[in-house]
Amino acid sequence: MPLTEGNEHIYRRNYSPLCPYCDFKIGLAKWDLYELYEENDHFVDCPNCEREFILTTEVSFRFSTDGLSNKKKLEENKNDKNQG
Ligand SMILES: [Zn+2]
Repeated sequence: MPLTEGNEHIYRRNYSPLCPYCDFKIGLAKWDLYELYEENDHFVDCPNCEREFILTTEVSFRFSTDGLSNKKKLEENKNDKNQG
């Protein structure tokens, strides 16, 4: 349902952007829109209805940690394999 009919929440924080006019789901790779991965506001022409809208890219970071003792074990395993 297009934004003009009032369902703003479905246009927020999606993995693929939805056109706010025609609800077209825009595959960034399919449409060669890799610049949209850059965190910023972008002006986009919908590939389906050709109307222009603003797309905001948000990037989130995730971090993984592991104790040093586990890292040592990994290095020991690598060394064992190299020697064998
Ligand atoms: Zn559209």
